[in-house]
Amino acid sequence: MKEIVPTPPAIIHNDAERILSLFQNVVPSYGRFELVFKRGAGSHLWDANGRRYLDLGGGIAVCSLGHGNPEITEALVEQSKELVHISNLYYHEPQGRLAAALVRLIGPGKVFFCNSGAEANEGLYKLARRFGHDEGRFEIITTRNSFHGRTLAGIAATGQEKVKQGFGPAVAGFRHVPYNDLEAMRAAISPATCAVLVEGIQGEGGVTPATPEYLLGLRQLCDEKKLLLLIDSVQCGHFRSGRFQSYQRLLEGVPGADAFYADGISMAKSLGGGFPIGAFWARQPYADLLGPGTHATTFGGTPLGCAVALKILSVIERDRLDENARNTGEWLKHELEQMAAAYPSVIRSVRGVGLMIGFELAEQIGAFAKSPKPASVQFVNLLHEAGLLTIPSGSHVVRLLPALNLTGSDAAEGIALIKSVVVKLV
Ligand SMILES: *Cc1c(COP(=O)(O)O)cnc(C)c1O
Repeated sequence: MKEIVPTPPAIIHNDAERILSLFQNVVPSYGRFELVFKRGAGSHLWDANGRRYLDLGGGIAVCSLGHGNPEITEALVEQSKELVHISNLYYHEPQGRLAAALVRLIGPGKVFFCNSGAEANEGLYKLARRFGHDEGRFEIITTRNSFHGRTLAGIAATGQEKVKQGFGPAVAGFRHVPYNDLEAMRAAISPATCAVLVEGIQGEGGVTPATPEYLLGLRQLCDEKKLLLLIDSVQCGHFRSGRFQSYQRLLEGVPGADAFYADGISMAKSLGGGFPIGAFWARQPYADLLGPGTHATTFGGTPLGCAVALKILSVIERDRLDENARNTGEWLKHELEQMAAAYPSVIRSVRGVGLMIGFELAEQIGAFAKSPKPASVQFVNLLHEAGLLTIPSGSHVVRLLPALNLTGSDAAEGIALIKSVVVKLV
């Protein structure tokens, strides 16, 4: 697996600095790592110095078919020769076909197309408010440590204080309760409540899957109290768990699972494989609450975006990437669990399903005591030095959200690189 990378000439090194200096013109709202990338192929990226990295972060669960995928390129090129954008004043085939494909995968309902995860959730909030409107209900209950996007309603919905700081007054009508706690949810429901919104697997909150009892209990509770059950699948959806929706995977083989259904589902990230596209699905009859003139976005569901999303779905199905997510994910998780057992002073636990995996670092890692940076960020930095890209989550969790077509040898390379860092921290 070792590749010999020639020492880059000085002129190329200056290239990275030149590109970094251009970012003086970019709003500094991101805490970025000092890495400049130029090119990618499959699960590998090359930086401006020509150094190769294995990418197990997948652009934060976005690059579902990896980098530089020739079939995505072909879909982009071919569709762009026909039609790129016409607006939602008119009809075109790719949007209709993509909606039909998503309905086939989820269930009877309808799809609205947008451009991001925050916007997909925004559509669900509006759907919920319409649903509750005639009875004066407007409140949506979400969970602590959730993440639902960075718009004003998104940060109101998100159950993390840090995203809200300094942006008040908050959009009204959101409350948070502990995740996987059905009784807390029940206790929080008021006469003004119209919906519940949860992630199937909390992503930014540290890779925490919903328990089957929680999912089934939420369904019962929502039926009982006439609430919409909304699932934020922006990160955990699109076959990442090994099934199209994470709840399908989490409820596999669980008695009574057939009774589970969602009323609304938001999607984005992996849907476009890097082309920005989001969507929400709403179960019938609720989809029709949003009649002509109630909701819109200029770029939603363009011919180009939909053609790419359709291609990704067809490749996932043809190549059985759901099975790959399941099998390769299980292998990765098993290897990480072995590492946690061998080096408990570094890795405390491993969580996740399919290709959405998080490992939690030990509370006190000696080598990290000197720096004020969170352990997760320090660990991710060490992985960068080793040539591996991963995503920190909270203060102690490192996330793997790789391409769904991650190969066995890429997975093995990733485990070897993680281990090379772990053994140095013992
Ligand atoms: C990333 C994410 C969002 C926000 O998506 P954007 O495309 O960044 O707006 C919402 N919910 C979850 C669960 C996410 O992971």
